[in-house]
Amino acid sequence: MLLTQEIIRKKRDKGVLSAEEIQFFVRGITDGSVSEGQIAALGMAVYFNDMNMDERVAFTLAMRDSGQVLDWRSLNLPGPIVDKHSTGGVGDVVSLLLGPMVAACGGYVPMISGRGLGHTGGTLDKFDAIPGYCTVPDNELFRKVVQDIGVAIIGQTAQLAPADKRFYSIRDVTATVESVAMITGSILSKKLSAGLDALVMDVKVGTGAFMPTYDKSVELAESIVAVGNGAGMQTSAILTDMNESLAPYAGNALEVRGAMDYLTGRSRPARLHEVTLALCAEMLVLGGLAASEEEARVKLMAALDSGEAAERFARMVSALGGPADLVEHPDKHLEQAPFIVPAPALSAGFANVRDCRAIGLAVVALGGGRRRPTDSIDFAVGLTDLVHHGEQVAVGQPLAMVHARTEAAAQQAVREIQDAYDISAVALAAKPVIYRTIRP
Ligand code: URA
Repeated sequence: MLLTQEIIRKKRDKGVLSAEEIQFFVRGITDGSVSEGQIAALGMAVYFNDMNMDERVAFTLAMRDSGQVLDWRSLNLPGPIVDKHSTGGVGDVVSLLLGPMVAACGGYVPMISGRGLGHTGGTLDKFDAIPGYCTVPDNELFRKVVQDIGVAIIGQTAQLAPADKRFYSIRDVTATVESVAMITGSILSKKLSAGLDALVMDVKVGTGAFMPTYDKSVELAESIVAVGNGAGMQTSAILTDMNESLAPYAGNALEVRGAMDYLTGRSRPARLHEVTLALCAEMLVLGGLAASEEEARVKLMAALDSGEAAERFARMVSALGGPADLVEHPDKHLEQAPFIVPAPALSAGFANVRDCRAIGLAVVALGGGRRRPTDSIDFAVGLTDLVHHGEQVAVGQPLAMVHARTEAAAQQAVREIQDAYDISAVALAAKPVIYRTIRP
């Protein structure tokens, strides 16, 4: 007979849990037969004593099976079911570009995205900035949009991986979030429940990243690749830079505008382009839609240049209840902040983004993110025209434009941006945008 307290005791004493023990515990998380105290105790035991790869696979699969698992086979789609997930960052608008681009190349992207966490933005919040767009469609509409358009970006439903929802909320308040084993299970259980054939993970590195060091980012990427493949989903990971905002803008409606400028070719910032193409190309190769990375890049550029990717974005927005002319007339639909003021450089030299996290927090302070989970968001506010790391600036030249609801909020953000940058007297070495790709 299995006993919850004996499972906790075994992990406390550095034992290796069997798949059966893990399944028993996770079932108890879902049906309520395991108490909050027991979940917290196991979380702390795992935090200190870890789980090996077999335990992580069993844990991930058990959490996946705690709820609904989407099955796309009955639709007989002519392409693979593929997705990307990111550990989150500032100005990371990739999902809005990648979904339509991969769909335009023959992939099917049922992207279940999350809200902003801490200093990072959330894809779901960006879509909520679009009037009418429904991020919680019923299952039938979600499937129809994926089938017809190739991409639907929506929010997490209560039916997917409910064990993770309960476990994560307890980890969050018992100081056990920072465990690679549990982060792996948490992320992958949700992605596996979306019924994917392949996943590319974007693991951020740097001062605006969720993982605190380069080595920890590598450890998480390697764990996700091993466990994802171990659970039967083709998985690779790319380590990308988050020492500065990925796009030169951050904030919900501002990022939607930026995404549409990218898709239509009005403006394609270099760092954003490099990361987006790398992630999309990996998805096409994993999904069998391109034989090589080079071929994938050619297809992706054709999808952009022909307007097909922009068209997919527009169709997705309209199919999910948003305005049919959003891409043509963004000003008609996206809210704009009443105060737009520059954050001037206080000295001349080379802009050194000292603290990317502080840039994300400046957006949160403007009202563009949440301090508490129940807070509402001001979609209009944020930053644009962020100066790149290493760029030369004159005294008084804007480091960014601040979009704020009030004059006082604008002035506070100006000070925060000035503080997030150091102005160096000497030229700075360029930082890589892509560090490494990790495959099984
Ligand atoms: N994001 C998740 O979804 N889960 C974690 O455990 C950490 C970050």
